[in-house]
Amino acid sequence: MSRTLGAAVALTADEHLALVDRRAARNYAPLPVVAAAAEGAWITDIDGRRYLDCLAAYSAVNFGHANPTVLAAARRQLERLTLVSRAFQHDQLGPFVQELAELIGKDMVLPMNTGAEAVESGIKVARKWGYEVKGVAQGQANIVVMAGNFHGRTTTIVSFSDDPEARENYGPYTPGFRTVPYGNGAAVAAAVDENTVAVLLEPVQGEGGVIVPPAGFLPEVRDICSREGVLLIADEIQSGLARTGRTLAVEHSGVEADVYLLGKALGGGVVPVSAVVADEDVLGVLRPGQHGSTFGGNPLACAVGRAVVGMLATGEWQERARGLGAHLDQRLRELVGHGVMEVRSLGLWAGVDIEPTLGTGKQVCTALAERGVLAKDTHGSTIRLAPPLVVEPAELDWAVDQLADVLRCLR
Ligand SMILES: *Cc1c(COP(=O)(O)O)cnc(C)c1O
Repeated sequence: MSRTLGAAVALTADEHLALVDRRAARNYAPLPVVAAAAEGAWITDIDGRRYLDCLAAYSAVNFGHANPTVLAAARRQLERLTLVSRAFQHDQLGPFVQELAELIGKDMVLPMNTGAEAVESGIKVARKWGYEVKGVAQGQANIVVMAGNFHGRTTTIVSFSDDPEARENYGPYTPGFRTVPYGNGAAVAAAVDENTVAVLLEPVQGEGGVIVPPAGFLPEVRDICSREGVLLIADEIQSGLARTGRTLAVEHSGVEADVYLLGKALGGGVVPVSAVVADEDVLGVLRPGQHGSTFGGNPLACAVGRAVVGMLATGEWQERARGLGAHLDQRLRELVGHGVMEVRSLGLWAGVDIEPTLGTGKQVCTALAERGVLAKDTHGSTIRLAPPLVVEPAELDWAVDQLADVLRCLR
């Protein structure tokens, strides 16, 4: 064991893969590329091969690998103060929550770490709000969720997943959730009753395959929530922070949620940073001791989060995502009928359905990796493309050419 560890720097790619397979829990089936460095939109493996990153860590690397603004903020903070816990104050928290609240247009921020924690926190806040503000009978609160959702991996969150892989054998499941078809406003209206405290949804379902709901859906859900006194919770952990060409994906529908869940890109690809953002009449239900996190809102996370919020405040990244996204969408649509069945996209975020007879999404992604493009399949024959927003149009062209070539070889 000690010999293996001591020699770790000298391992070959195959030795790395074998080591991970033997010693890491096998809850992932990653592509066999062993990354060693990255900058911008490009990842370099341990043998010096370069790959265009078309996943961006599920949007956690929206601003590019080793983004200079993020790195400078992180380095500066690393030398000064990294952790005191929320038991004490520190000089990064106030500015971070102020700047993030202003960007999102809400009163308050609850800082957490991972996306799943933001979702859990949003659920706790919605239930507490339901009992203390709406007046729901104790223990009766329900939350309406969408079929095909992905909100994370905790026991409560997988309790309302309909993906058997994510859910099976993790029971007993947390009660209090009602699932309706995504995109169906009438079903949401029918599911809401006097004990409903929230409707929780992704404005675009990312893991579901970049599913963009019908145009009227979010406005309809907004109306239902306003009419029935129900919180609309938008999980913008993957869709938010410029990926779709807006700070928040709900902006495309002209809708405001009551509660926003943010994560992924908020950490600049450096540290996990997540947040629940809402007005005081909602987040104000939390009093000292009623919720917490040792690392939530730590100085390093806040400094990195401030750098991210600062970049988003200019609107340049959102505009860049819109321009690049239009270009990628146009190029991908040329492949429809040539191995591609359907393309769905919003901003620089595309779901590409491969003709199932050609192979699985995983097979296509493996072939793409051999050509220097790293992408990730979602369910079945869908590939998701979400490169860092620093990618150049010519690089997108090259990636689409590689996909066209892979599909040609499979036909
Ligand atoms: C990734 C994701 C989460 C969970 O985030 P983690 O940081 O992996 O816990 C929740 N919701 C959505 C929409 C996501 O894409």
